[in-house]
Amino acid sequence: MRRFGALLAAGLLAGTLAACGGTETQEMESAQAFAMDTVMVLTAGGGETGTALQTAQEELYRLDRELSRTREDSAVSRLNSAPAGTAEDVGEELYGLIAQALTFSAATDGAFDITLAPVSSAWGFTEDAYRVPGQEELDALLTHVGADHVHLEGGTSVSLDQGTQIDLGAIAKGYASDVVASIYQENGVAHGTVYLGGNTWVCGGNPEGDPWRIGVQDPARAEEAEAYTGILRMTDGFAVTSGGYQRYFEEDGVTYHHIIDPATGRPAESGLTSVTVVADGTVGNGTMCDALSTALFVMGEERALDFWRSGAYYFDLILVTEDGRLLVTDGIADQFQPDETAGYAYEVVS
Ligand code: ADP
Ligand code: MG
Repeated sequence: MRRFGALLAAGLLAGTLAACGGTETQEMESAQAFAMDTVMVLTAGGGETGTALQTAQEELYRLDRELSRTREDSAVSRLNSAPAGTAEDVGEELYGLIAQALTFSAATDGAFDITLAPVSSAWGFTEDAYRVPGQEELDALLTHVGADHVHLEGGTSVSLDQGTQIDLGAIAKGYASDVVASIYQENGVAHGTVYLGGNTWVCGGNPEGDPWRIGVQDPARAEEAEAYTGILRMTDGFAVTSGGYQRYFEEDGVTYHHIIDPATGRPAESGLTSVTVVADGTVGNGTMCDALSTALFVMGEERALDFWRSGAYYFDLILVTEDGRLLVTDGIADQFQPDETAGYAYEVVS
């Protein structure tokens, strides 16, 4: 188990996994994948562990092939390159994911938007060719952005308006975590962790009978492997983090990150440095947590907390603000232990 410690540091605490390697407790097996531009680490114990891990790994690679915007042969690329207004058969799975993404757009007043693809490209985030586009260029691209440019037809077909392209980067890993969670369940995995970058799912607690411990990365110390705002204890559930620190570039002393505010076409400046959405381990919540972590990062503290209080979706939040506060909603306050050395002013929100 130890050898995965470094990779897991950003999400699941290495110590937890080391502790479960003993012979007296359930043997845990591990698998890794590099997909969706992310190092993914899976652990499982109990049930058909080998089958679960292998099937999960294959599914992660399959989803990478289908949902990537940079692979020319992916289902998403076929849709993006289809002639404008032509219905493209994308299959039930991608259709369902796009339909869900549109629902999250509506629920978040457009803060979540899969049609930002041309804008992300203009900033060079998709192609790793960073640049700062002018406002005129962004305004022109924004005319093609918005959920109303995506049309669902008959359960498997989708068409896009002229100039519109989709990017599922803000939801694909969450969906992948749902797929892996259901594979674990089908194979009777008793204890498991699924770490897909900032997207974590755990089940069954650790083999010693304690909750899993999940480190929430300190956005101010993103370069450090084990620098946390705090530790979340969870037996079964999802925890998904979005933050500007995950992908960014600097030009003329200004930092530009990859989460775009659809209202401006520019990196969101909402006063938040990271958003972690926490929900129970029900399959489907991975997709929800991923969509909402991105959306609430764009919305900022006040709108995010209003959205949480609205009860539209059932989840909890860990927010880190630019002005040095760490906010945790009361549903998970007793599971969260802030790390005092991180120096944030800690508040429980109700
Ligand atoms: P990560 O991919 O780092 O885990 P997110 O889940 O927050 O982080 O997704 C960010 C990605 O989603 C970006 O790289 C971009 O492809 C896309 N994106 C950027 N802004 C938005 C937005 N407002 N709504 C939906 N997708 C977005
Ligand atoms: Mg997301």
